[in-house]
Amino acid sequence: MRYSAFRIMKEALTGHRGWKPAWRDVAPQPAYDFVIIGGGGHGLATAHYLAKVFGKAKIAVLEKGYIGGGSVGRNTTIVRANYLLPGNEPFYEFAMQLWEGLEQDLNYNAMVSQRGIMNLIHTDGQRDAFRRRGNSMMLNGAGAELLDREAVRREAPFLDFDNARFPIKGALMHRRGGTVRHDAVAWGYARAADQRGVDIIQNCEVTGFRIEQGRVQGVETTRGYIGAKKVGLTVAGASGKLMAMAGQRLPIESHVLQAYVSEALKPVLPGVITFGAGHFYVSQSDKGGLVFGGDIDGYNSYASRGNLPVIEDVCEGGMALMPIIGRARLLRVWGGIMDMSMDGSPFIDRTAIDGLYFNGGWCYGGFKATPASGYAFAQLLATDTPHETATAYRLDRFRAGRAIDEKGVGPRPNLH
Ligand SMILES: Cc1cc2nc3c(=O)[nH]c(=O)nc-3n(C[C@H](O)[C@H](O)[C@H](O)COP(=O)(O)OP(=O)(O)OC[C@H]3O[C@@H](n4cnc5c(N)ncnc54)[C@H](O)[C@@H]3O)c2cc1C
Repeated sequence: MRYSAFRIMKEALTGHRGWKPAWRDVAPQPAYDFVIIGGGGHGLATAHYLAKVFGKAKIAVLEKGYIGGGSVGRNTTIVRANYLLPGNEPFYEFAMQLWEGLEQDLNYNAMVSQRGIMNLIHTDGQRDAFRRRGNSMMLNGAGAELLDREAVRREAPFLDFDNARFPIKGALMHRRGGTVRHDAVAWGYARAADQRGVDIIQNCEVTGFRIEQGRVQGVETTRGYIGAKKVGLTVAGASGKLMAMAGQRLPIESHVLQAYVSEALKPVLPGVITFGAGHFYVSQSDKGGLVFGGDIDGYNSYASRGNLPVIEDVCEGGMALMPIIGRARLLRVWGGIMDMSMDGSPFIDRTAIDGLYFNGGWCYGGFKATPASGYAFAQLLATDTPHETATAYRLDRFRAGRAIDEKGVGPRPNLH
């Protein structure tokens, strides 16, 4: 079934009896050519592009819970291509191009909204750094503008321009960045993949790997053994646990990150704003809630909930930037599990085990990468060659001395 304005009108006139489930509920088959573990954004996108772009069949996505229940449905919905380093910026620009055509590709309203992102500048040194980043963005086609203080005031007059401690001196504006409705991305990819014959199997937890003579044969699951010629791992915060089942260690730690939503307000924020003197960023959802976030909780955990000191810290950041936020009541807070890599950049690579491929280490920035990550991982699984924008995302880069240290903070996940 294709979604269209005509279909909505027809269903409205006929009592909405014609809608079909967005994807089939199937039982696992004994074996597949490709098994993708993890039905988050990255896993579902991988399955979609494997089927659509690389013409592959016999594909299953195994999800231990329900589609949209992981970080893909827990993030703060921001998409952007405002990176600096050559290993990263072309990849995120590729993702941005895929976001721009996503709804047509999937025939699904994912509410892609390029409302712009302003990274605020508070010092002269920060302006130099953002100018350099903006140049990298322009060289890679992402576009960038350096705004002065008055231009920022025109965009967002409610910011605290009189704050003597953190004066606003300007901003790096990324107009093509913005927000996308997060769970709709999972649902849209799931529906599109299902339409191409991919089996999406929920409530199917992978509990082990069957590996013989260095080659993966299949996976043990709570719904029985499933054979596979190739297995792709896209389990985000659970990456370390799953790879340990295959006897592999990763340069990744799992941490909690929280998200915050206020009560619904009338439209006030024009786009996404990030505070350059503290860890706080904010946008406004179409329902009116201020959606904001900040630092990870700072300790290793697999719990999808965080603690009060970080809530206080993030709200203090909000108050320092835009005191009007103090009048809004906080409606919801939740946590998600981050797969924090040691340099803040991800991995899309083969592993030491034949037929086992790894995608992870997205830290708290993997949502924006979803389409490009899925595309690049599908290409690697289908052809054994990395996508041209993802060649730096190797698992051996620390041993080889090629860390992609985007923020220049070294191996410190809490500072990325
Ligand atoms: C609070 C918060 C805010 C964020 N904000 C942003 C943002 O604004 N912009 C941005 O770009 N990124 C953001 N992120 C990061 C982003 O959400 C993640 O990097 C990204 O969603 C991870 O990829 P995924 O969607 O595939 O993960 P997930 O949705 O977590 O998918 C992984 C799936 O694997 C499943 N799984 C785990 N173990 C098993 C198993 N044994 N067997 C089968 N299935 C298994 C899980 O149930 C899960 O559904 C944020 C994250 C959080 C938590």
